[in-house]
Amino acid sequence: MLPRTILPGAIIGVLGSGQLGRMFSLAARQLGYRVHIYSPDSDSPAGQIGDVEIVAPYEDLDRVRAFAQSVDVVTFEFENVPSATSAAAAEIVPVRPDGLVLHTTQHRLREKQYLSNHGFPVTPFRRITSQTDLQSAVSELGLPAILKTASFGYDGKGQQRLVSADQLSTAFAQLRGVEGILEACVDFDREISVVAARGLDGAFEPFPVFENTHAHHILDVTIAPAGISDRLARDAVDLARGVLDALQVVGLLTVELFVTRKGTLLVNELAPRTHNSGHLTIDACVTSQFEQQLRAVCGLPLGATTLRAPTAMANLLGDVWLASGGTPNWTAALSDSSIKLHLYGKSVPRAGRKMGHLTATAATPALAVQAVRAARDRLVN
Ligand code: AMP
Repeated sequence: MLPRTILPGAIIGVLGSGQLGRMFSLAARQLGYRVHIYSPDSDSPAGQIGDVEIVAPYEDLDRVRAFAQSVDVVTFEFENVPSATSAAAAEIVPVRPDGLVLHTTQHRLREKQYLSNHGFPVTPFRRITSQTDLQSAVSELGLPAILKTASFGYDGKGQQRLVSADQLSTAFAQLRGVEGILEACVDFDREISVVAARGLDGAFEPFPVFENTHAHHILDVTIAPAGISDRLARDAVDLARGVLDALQVVGLLTVELFVTRKGTLLVNELAPRTHNSGHLTIDACVTSQFEQQLRAVCGLPLGATTLRAPTAMANLLGDVWLASGGTPNWTAALSDSSIKLHLYGKSVPRAGRKMGHLTATAATPALAVQAVRAARDRLVN
């Protein structure tokens, strides 16, 4: 029997309650769906927008089952949801993308192993469970290298850059007994991402390739379209299609890639969901990444992803609040009428915490970047 299409009016369950869930909920409400949010946090970015906010631990499987009973489909905005949580929900309603996608992508080693077993190009890596593993991995991969925790890592959390052999014992101790992964440090030309959707019928719809710059391992600015050749953009999209097909994704998945100085592609990481680099799709594309996730998990036809104009996005971290004495100068930032402001409803700004973003649309990608950076600078002046 073909899975039924989940039509407007139905209830979508979201595991996780951050800004991705918030922007998803806004899109879902626009299309006439209701949204129930499940996470351990209260007054969360997504909970403020959803119809119902359930505050409970992911490990409380009875609450998870009761949540699943109240909705028509479950999706997630946070991939570190335990496998048992998505499995409990899947006993009752479809979970999209499914538990296998979550399981593969929430653990760096498992993900890299999966990608390399399926012939996708990845950064050279080694599993680290002892100091001896680390020593032999460093002698094989060389320095500099990056030591990461295998699980619960994002935005550079749990990452250490190793440049000399004296760092090894301290770095290993910092893993605090959890499994690690050592990656060769890629001397990349640039970083790009492909956010793409795959429907219930296998239809594949990528967004234009985005170009990303990071500061302190956290995404700083995204530009669309990426400044790469059409051929490389096609290769990146083909690679993403291969990954979504191999994993049989129903929903959205993001492939983060390095473009090496030789012009080849290496997968850095997968995210089985909408992505920070895709935030500009709200203002720049015919369909946003959030609406696309909704369409994919509901079995609706996927929307067009055409870029209306060159666009750039700049993240607003808590640092902006700290640097501006508590209240950023919104009026100054918005004095350029091409600037769009998105805030996530977080009340406590902390250094490195994603509080919102700005987007600018312009005649060229370079002008869009210039405008969005200038607007962000004006917030603290
Ligand atoms: P991740 O959390 O793994 O996506 O890492 C965040 C950022 O750190 C990446 O987007 C890169 O800018 C940088 N990074 C991570 N791994 C590597 C690597 N193996 N080589 C060079 N840079 C890296």
